[in-house]
Amino acid sequence: MSELLYKSTRGHGEAITSSRAILRGLAEDGGLYVPERIPKLDFPLAEAVRMDYRELAYRVMRLFLTDYTEDELRGCINGAYDDKFDTDEIAPIRGAAGAYYLELYHGATIAFKDMALSVLPRLMTVAAKKNGADGEIVILTATSGDTGKAAMAGFADVPGTKIIVFYPKDGVSAVQERQMITQRGNNTYVVGVRGNFDDAQSGVKTMFADAELAKTLARSGFAFSSANSINIGRLVPQIVYYVYAYSRLVKCGAVSCGEYINAAVPTGNFGNILAAHYAKLMGTPIKTLICASNDNRVLTDFFDTGVYDKNRPFYTTSSPSMDILVSSNLERLIYEIANGDAVRCRACMEALHANGRYAITADERKRLDDFFGGSAAEAEVSDEIARVWNGDGYVIDTHTAVASRVLYCYRTATGDRTPAVVASTASPYKFARSVMSAISDDVDGRGDFELIDELSRISGVPVPPAIEDIRSAPVRHDRVCGKDEMRAAVMEILGITSE
Ligand SMILES: *Cc1c(COP(=O)(O)O)cnc(C)c1O
Repeated sequence: MSELLYKSTRGHGEAITSSRAILRGLAEDGGLYVPERIPKLDFPLAEAVRMDYRELAYRVMRLFLTDYTEDELRGCINGAYDDKFDTDEIAPIRGAAGAYYLELYHGATIAFKDMALSVLPRLMTVAAKKNGADGEIVILTATSGDTGKAAMAGFADVPGTKIIVFYPKDGVSAVQERQMITQRGNNTYVVGVRGNFDDAQSGVKTMFADAELAKTLARSGFAFSSANSINIGRLVPQIVYYVYAYSRLVKCGAVSCGEYINAAVPTGNFGNILAAHYAKLMGTPIKTLICASNDNRVLTDFFDTGVYDKNRPFYTTSSPSMDILVSSNLERLIYEIANGDAVRCRACMEALHANGRYAITADERKRLDDFFGGSAAEAEVSDEIARVWNGDGYVIDTHTAVASRVLYCYRTATGDRTPAVVASTASPYKFARSVMSAISDDVDGRGDFELIDELSRISGVPVPPAIEDIRSAPVRHDRVCGKDEMRAAVMEILGITSE
């Protein structure tokens, strides 16, 4: 198989192997690594119907991670997608209320981030060995609530690594925060940032881009990497479940092989939907990619107008993992619609940094035809949870409800009845208060765990172990810092005193 190399969306530096790109996370020029081409599936979809999740994951991921041997890659995959997931299907599909919900939350931390973060640490430690990297890998991660926990679960006590997670102190759900501050593992560190997710993310990106800091770290035997979806090692495993979803729809007779589906994805940092787009480019019959936002509808406006403008109020919503105004992975799409013109891509990103906005050209916009952007306001999210519950007795979480609602409106507006998959990104138990508020009148004054038990009673779905775990787990992390103190927090955690 021919080797696939990765290069930066901002054009500097040489093309590097997949394992190096995974080790580095972000390119040195601040760009994101993209593969030089998107490979085509090299097996018929009819064959995918007969593969289980692990086999399909191998067949898809090998096309991107060409410098991993078969043994290495299968080892990573089989170690990740095992009984940490509560179903052997790994990502089951459930038909309800006119759509197919692809449940991506059956892993250890009950959000879709587990799909990639259960395998990333394995890909990274193999990559470190392959490249003779010495020293300890320090994973720096900004989280809007779910990445942090999933990344720590993946990296906890992995030899040769430390993980530091920054989350917006008042910007995550009660369960999300509790999941993080009770995290075990001697190499895990959690810091609440007094700011929003964008503050945390830009603080982390600044540290990555800081060459002096990299040198200081290297002298102490450390090297940064990233578990955020800017890491290509996050994106590639996410492509798998769109191919898998398609194969399962064929298997159950919902579509015939080759027939198109649409995909609706609740979007924050644009990683999940970009993976769907890559699955499409590989040859999965996906027609329209429905990019769903909450009240932070910067992407909806971008698809409507061709202008990305983050100069707007930031809203804290019931779908906190999507409360984002700077969607990092969009940079990969901009690079693509600019026909791989890194100078152009860099100019857009510099404009975003300097002025908070950029506009794409009419030609570039034409290449976005596959995408439809829509948003759901808070009341609509709540109505959607109730609609699906009342219609089919099926409970979805707030993030999934954003996508479900946008799909519903898209269908009403366009009459497009193509069978549609909704990426179901979190267990409703993670956002029990918002979910219960949508389907019950008896929520006020009741505690989170009481609502969780009530949700289980009415839905008949057992409370997942991830929730049971945090009921009584002791708090192990209480560090908080200002948004300008993130670097100092890292130095303190790593025990580096002088610079
Ligand atoms: C992270 C997350 C999203 C957004 O996914 P992106 O890849 O950042 O677009 C949506 N829903 C949930 C529950 C998440 O954790």
